[in-house]
Amino acid sequence: MKFSRHSPDRRDFLQHYVLGTAAAGLAISSTSHVSAQTVASDAEPEITNDVDVLVVGGGTAGHVAAIQAGRAGAKTLIVERNSQLGGTMTTGGVAFPGLFDAWGRQVIAGIGWELVRESTEMDEGAFPDFAKVPQRHWQNQIYTNQFLYSLLAEEKCAAAGVEIAYYEFPQTVTKTDGGWEVECIGFGTRRLVRCRQIIDCTGGAEVVGMLGFPRLREDVRQPGSFLFKLDTAHAPGREQVHRLYVHGADSTNSRTATSANLAGRKSILEKVRKEGKRLMHLQPETGFRESYRIEGETVVTVNDYTSGRVFDDAISYAFYPVDLHTKTGVKPKPLKPGTVPTIPFRALIPKGSRDIIVAGRCVSSDQLANSGLRVQASCMGMGQAAGVAATLAAKAGTTPLEVPLSEIHSLLHEHGQIIPGQG
Ligand SMILES: Cc1cc2nc3c(=O)[nH]c(=O)nc-3n(C[C@H](O)[C@H](O)[C@H](O)COP(=O)(O)OP(=O)(O)OC[C@H]3O[C@@H](n4cnc5c(N)ncnc54)[C@H](O)[C@@H]3O)c2cc1C
Repeated sequence: MKFSRHSPDRRDFLQHYVLGTAAAGLAISSTSHVSAQTVASDAEPEITNDVDVLVVGGGTAGHVAAIQAGRAGAKTLIVERNSQLGGTMTTGGVAFPGLFDAWGRQVIAGIGWELVRESTEMDEGAFPDFAKVPQRHWQNQIYTNQFLYSLLAEEKCAAAGVEIAYYEFPQTVTKTDGGWEVECIGFGTRRLVRCRQIIDCTGGAEVVGMLGFPRLREDVRQPGSFLFKLDTAHAPGREQVHRLYVHGADSTNSRTATSANLAGRKSILEKVRKEGKRLMHLQPETGFRESYRIEGETVVTVNDYTSGRVFDDAISYAFYPVDLHTKTGVKPKPLKPGTVPTIPFRALIPKGSRDIIVAGRCVSSDQLANSGLRVQASCMGMGQAAGVAATLAAKAGTTPLEVPLSEIHSLLHEHGQIIPGQG
């Protein structure tokens, strides 16, 4: 059955279904059934994959990178240590992606926008008018239904032929003549991945760290936030929920992440007791703003960012105020009218590396530039560019930096992305 946005069929169906189940005194879930696909090798924990592109981390940047690589014809595997796609957008609950527009026009489109648009349309949500310049930057963020978003992201991966491996993460990464051998581990699973290119979308550039390439991390990092709601039910795609700053939150390893989750949940429990309100919504983990960034072939400085420097090798626009959260909160510093920063391709390449690209908040940048670059539309723009570059490099048997920029731009354009200086 196909439902359009305002389809009467859809309303009839929902009404009938809800009334029917209420009358029968049944929960909706008890009437629904689905079978998981049989996993051929479930008795055999050793699995081998030969792929063109391995994406590690299926978060904001990662699922876009994987969908792009799959659509461009690369055999693609995505390994995600959590249980769903979307990362900070879905598991962290930060489901208000920004910013796809700047100064009255759309500046980031492509696969990320396709997903945000389709999930918002399906959810009968609202879109800002990109032709109007808002008074405050956050007015043009799009309230997205995190649950629907992750379902659509999985559907688009399947349609692009991308294989998904949840609950797994790389344990060793070894360079080979043709690319990499990556041993991944999950419960009951050991997977050997032979791939030509890796895209590290782990947020904190974990694969880059395992390989020993240089990374940057501040002594004092921005706090993370736990998202929750007291008193009234959460309406996904319609509102922002409550946030609790978790100072010192860092996604660098399982110990730091555990510590952030424990501190956040303990504080929320105290709040519930103190305020005597019902806990109506709680995300499964802390949203992490900052940990490691790579030191790339180019490091974007705050000066580059605030001056709107158009890099020769720009692969995406980015748009957001400089937005550094500290112990005392955040005072966003808006960009000057007309300024639209760009992201250079070389900021996605770990310095001195071959056959590995990053995308997402770990982009090579100083802390202040990163506080603006890290937002979701920009992460999606980087993810799509990384997917294109990894695919072209895998096909040509070369490394991403040796792929002609014109080919990267042309394939990005073909897949709906806006190229800085060209549109
Ligand atoms: C509280 C908060 C509020 C924010 N507000 C906004 C906002 O209003 N608008 C906006 O646009 N942006 C906002 N941001 C910024 C934005 O959400 C993030 O910077 C962005 O989502 C990061 O995307 P990413 O792909 O780099 O990382 P993530 O989305 O975090 O994805 C990383 C993924 O990698 C997985 N992973 C990590 N390590 C491994 C491993 N070793 N193996 C396998 N998988 C791994 C993780 O499980 C995760 O799924 C906010 C961020 C936070 C935390």
